[in-house]
Amino acid sequence: MQHVIVTGGAGYIGAHACKALSRAGFIPVAFDNLTTGWGQAVKFGPLFKGDLMDRAALDACFAQYQPVAVMHFAALSLVGESMTNPGKYWRTNVNGSLNLIEATLAAGVRNFVFSSTCATYGELDGVALDEDTPQTPINAYGGSKLAIEMMLRDFQKSSGLNSVIFRYFNVAGADPEGEVGEQHVPETHLIPLMLDAIEGKRPALTVFGSDYNTPDGTCIRDYVHVSDLVDAHVLGLRWLMDGKGSRVFCLGSGRGFSVREVIEASRIVTNREVPIIEGQRRAGDATSLVSGSHRAVSELGWTPDRSTLTKMIGDALLWSRKPRFEA
Ligand code: UDP
Repeated sequence: MQHVIVTGGAGYIGAHACKALSRAGFIPVAFDNLTTGWGQAVKFGPLFKGDLMDRAALDACFAQYQPVAVMHFAALSLVGESMTNPGKYWRTNVNGSLNLIEATLAAGVRNFVFSSTCATYGELDGVALDEDTPQTPINAYGGSKLAIEMMLRDFQKSSGLNSVIFRYFNVAGADPEGEVGEQHVPETHLIPLMLDAIEGKRPALTVFGSDYNTPDGTCIRDYVHVSDLVDAHVLGLRWLMDGKGSRVFCLGSGRGFSVREVIEASRIVTNREVPIIEGQRRAGDATSLVSGSHRAVSELGWTPDRSTLTKMIGDALLWSRKPRFEA
């Protein structure tokens, strides 16, 4: 069977990708330093404990497993933190990715799937975003991801590295079978924080800003189910292995929901009120980020049919009631 190196394979999205790869007949090798990921989330293939800053560790992993491709998830990904500590984001995300790309090329591998983000677009005033929309990021997280996209284009030209770049919208939910799910320390994401507030594990959810230029004053995001998202990665891997070359795909549901709409959906799914506090805006948050792209559907045959708010919140709730991973 063919191996695929999955950086960040012990993290939220990476662990779901490992499950999808394993189902598709590959052996996922989780390359992870376990600073934010969980050893217990690595269930579908081997764990190679290593850091992207450690080129020798990368070379050893490639030599041991002779992969056919790389899926690169490992990154710092918090918009708010990237505004207060931009150096950490530029250093970790960009330098780590450069090391990985160079190790990939040195090992003779030419198939690279990269996790990018709609945060590369910035503040575009409600425009539906697609692969051709200009990228003008407003936070260091988005900036660092855009730099890596640019790096991949340069290495395609210089060395024939073929990449599928996925620009994610807001990833949510959990494996519907409950094998893996979202567990961040500290948690900063809307849906898990909301479920914690409903279950009394925290006093309330703070709504970050009610004065945005949207119908209800709160930010609008496009939420996509993590299992749909990782299915697209397997399709992207096959695209590369079929020799179709480099391509960018947006991964969103195409529907935008405000923070208040997500709160209302959670109230309906759980039949419980969400205690909320009206807070200040969070630095770096764009008003609205919604995908207007059908490329992944039309070209990859992607079917994001789990990406409804009800399904995402329901699967996140199922996961939130499971025992936590332990370090
Ligand atoms: N949000 C919020 N309160 C929270 C966490 C998030 O109001 O405690 C809002 C945030 O401002 C954004 C949306 O929920 O508009 C999604 O944020 P999240 O951190 O989940 O994802 P991001 O958009 O940063 O990738």
